[in-house]
Amino acid sequence: MNVSARIDAVYAQVLRRNPGETEFHQAVGEVLHTLAPVLRAHPDYVDTRIVERLCEPERQIIFRVPWVDDRGEVHVNRGFRVEFSSALGPYKGGLRFHPSVNLGIVKFLGFEQIFKNALTGLAIGGGKGGADFDPKGRSTGEVMRFCQSFMTELYRHLGEHTDVPAGDIGVGSREIGYLFGQYKRVTNRYEAGVLTGKGVSWGGSHARTEATGYGTVYFVQEMLTARGLHLDGRRVVVSGSGNVALYAIEKIHALGGHVVACSDSSGYLVDERGIDVTLLKEIKEVRRERISAYAEARPTASFSARGSVFDVPCDIALPCATQNELDEQSAIALVKNSVVAVAEGANMPCTPAAINVLREAGVLFGPGKAANAGGVATSALEMRQNASRHQWTFQQTETQLADVMRNIHAQCRATAEAYDAPENYVLGANATGFLRAAEAMDAQGLV
Ligand code: GLU
Repeated sequence: MNVSARIDAVYAQVLRRNPGETEFHQAVGEVLHTLAPVLRAHPDYVDTRIVERLCEPERQIIFRVPWVDDRGEVHVNRGFRVEFSSALGPYKGGLRFHPSVNLGIVKFLGFEQIFKNALTGLAIGGGKGGADFDPKGRSTGEVMRFCQSFMTELYRHLGEHTDVPAGDIGVGSREIGYLFGQYKRVTNRYEAGVLTGKGVSWGGSHARTEATGYGTVYFVQEMLTARGLHLDGRRVVVSGSGNVALYAIEKIHALGGHVVACSDSSGYLVDERGIDVTLLKEIKEVRRERISAYAEARPTASFSARGSVFDVPCDIALPCATQNELDEQSAIALVKNSVVAVAEGANMPCTPAAINVLREAGVLFGPGKAANAGGVATSALEMRQNASRHQWTFQQTETQLADVMRNIHAQCRATAEAYDAPENYVLGANATGFLRAAEAMDAQGLV
């Protein structure tokens, strides 16, 4: 069987084995379709079925999460942890609490994490987890009880050398605190390296909160520089207003760009004076309100409940909200408005059709596995600090983050060029990540 036929067969098997898991199918399809030239150069990886093995998680855990709300009513949620690959280190990846979470979503995220984590060059495998719990409108006490119940089951699967979760959508430092507290109670161990994204005063790393957003902007800067372009004075649109978006906006402003729009699930916001991050943080993180509150507080801003944030003309677009938020139509609108670069701060925010439109128009496109790897990279730096019982300064940590992002960019470019596809960061990221994981698997026998 030739390589293309073999890849088609692997994909057909993934579809058969994982019925209805559309996001997982999409994530696998996107990787497999870029790997053909890599596998042609490495026929041994075809013979030893490394691709098939990578598409099958090492372990999938699904569990019941019962909890009681403030009125005494009982709720039952479903919890997940998919331990995808330990080829390069302990399973590593965030937890997502959102009503849309199901096995297919967790698997797509876990699959992406293998390649992203490999790309960082740090010793971390890939995994992901979460629950279909909706934190929206829940009190702090309810969130705490949910986290405690979730960890009461999950703890037995974790460990600093086994599986190390962190945050994702709906899981920030508050939730990591409750999860860590419960892990400590049930294990009687202050095992700091079992979770990352901890508070800076109790084992967390400086710059972890900022890392994903900052890292995405560093990656954009590298892509621009490689084409002889600059960030300075550029008009930028960022979707979302969560952790990734907030710190992407902050860093864009620090580097001379101008962010004019952002969004949340209720709509989007335009502020031609530039998004005021301090106000946005206060609204989203302290008051936990919708972004329309920003428009009420700033006379220069307007809020729209309809349409897409990507209709706002810009030079650079950073989708930082969630999967499949930037579709073909949005990509066409961006190209019509002469966008120069698009980088994924979120995981798989661009549909395959959108990526095609952008790439065919010659837009610089930074896939999430590369562009948003700064978060998990800084988690690995947090693990390193925990292992040595030492804490670096903000400056030291941010310098290392910037180095990691520069390296990721350089490696993506070098790999893409080696396969005769310059500026194809999708191929560059997938191939580099795959080759690292594959080499380790090959060395470790039939795993
Ligand atoms: N959830 C983040 C990601 O998508 C971070 C994971 C981590 O820090 O382990 O990469």
